[in-house]
Amino acid sequence: MPGKTFYIETFGCQMNAHDSEKVVGTLLAEGYTQVATPEEAHLVLYNTCSIRDKAEQKVFSRLQQFKREAGKGKLFGVLGCVAQQEGEKIFERAPHVTLVAGSASYTKLPQLLVQLEAGNRRVTGLSLDTDETFDTPFTRRDNPHRAYITIIEGCDKSCAYCVVPFTRGPERSRTGESVMAEARRLAEQGYTEIQLLGQNVNSYRDPSAAGWDFATLLARVAEIPGIRRVRYTTSHPRDFVRAIVEAMDANPVLCDHVHLPVQSGSSRVLAAMDRLYTRDQYLERIELLKTARRRYSITTDIIVGFPGETEEDFERTLDLLDKVQYDSLFSFKYSPRPNTAALSMPDRVPEEEKQRRLAILQEKQRAIQIRRNAELIGEVREVLVEGRNVPLGQWIGRTSDNRTLNFTHSETEGLVGRYLDVRVTRSGPNSLVGEAVV
Ligand code: SF4
Repeated sequence: MPGKTFYIETFGCQMNAHDSEKVVGTLLAEGYTQVATPEEAHLVLYNTCSIRDKAEQKVFSRLQQFKREAGKGKLFGVLGCVAQQEGEKIFERAPHVTLVAGSASYTKLPQLLVQLEAGNRRVTGLSLDTDETFDTPFTRRDNPHRAYITIIEGCDKSCAYCVVPFTRGPERSRTGESVMAEARRLAEQGYTEIQLLGQNVNSYRDPSAAGWDFATLLARVAEIPGIRRVRYTTSHPRDFVRAIVEAMDANPVLCDHVHLPVQSGSSRVLAAMDRLYTRDQYLERIELLKTARRRYSITTDIIVGFPGETEEDFERTLDLLDKVQYDSLFSFKYSPRPNTAALSMPDRVPEEEKQRRLAILQEKQRAIQIRRNAELIGEVREVLVEGRNVPLGQWIGRTSDNRTLNFTHSETEGLVGRYLDVRVTRSGPNSLVGEAVV
């Protein structure tokens, strides 16, 4: 068995992806070497997501797969939301797991590793009462051009279907000064795109005397020399205010894209979900974007089959798609989660009905995306080159409004990380194709 090697697999959202970057940086600083497969590793880590039951099941099936390896000295750790949610119960369910730690404990990883290496077989990091979850000294970023920065942790809302307030705790904002220092450092290292992260970035409030709100933070980060694009995720419609759109309008470094999760088009369902806004209030936020100076792409999340959702409620969601004309959406069937208010709600929608609604919703959205993407044919868009698709002979680019734009260019290497103008020549439901303008 090779010593001090680790493998990590990440499930779930960008917050988790960034958390894994912090875990990797910490492990490397502690003298571990990262390997590409669980088979090669001494320490196997799963950074988990518990937003849906399916994601949680996947982790336990992974753990099951390597159960026999534990006898040969391999160590297994469960990190992230499932760890925080299930806690020490994980040791009962998967007895070969030796480390269980939630995201608020990653700053303590070096101490947890010492306990693990000393032979302790039940090491836990489950405290949520830390306020120091941001400034992990080591972060190994996966992408050399785009960097995530956490600006706020946790969530003070209590949406009836969501586990996040239980797994990530209450909201804690980071100081503006500390966000700026990290962003400046990244710019100096050559990063050109920053993505500000939080469960609800809109409720960001600088805890220092400066007291910046989210719109101010956006404006300041966008002014840092060398930063060409700033994105953020995720927003809560209730806290998405005019000042944010004004900050975006004022500086094109702030990308032409807003992800504004609606979850349902029915005010009745939104009330049951405890989302704290009505359909009309949501549409007012959309109006802020549609009447803005720039054209923004708008994307969303939708849950179908929330307890009590009637056919009429579902029709309201379909109607919302017609009204907003989203550029893309993530859609899910409602999945009951532990500790949430919706768990005990009556009138569960049968699984087949959820599936039927999901299929109808996705078909409708697909038609909208085909139409909206086709409208872009002939336009020139700036892309950040993210990679190359060798078999297709195309470069992969991303536009400011978060579309994938694959394109041809006379160069066959050396373009990744550059910003280029590309003319759109073809479109599909999920991406665009074009030619570099040279
Ligand atoms: S705003 Fe609602 S859905 Fe989003 S993290 Fe908070 S509780 Fe969950």
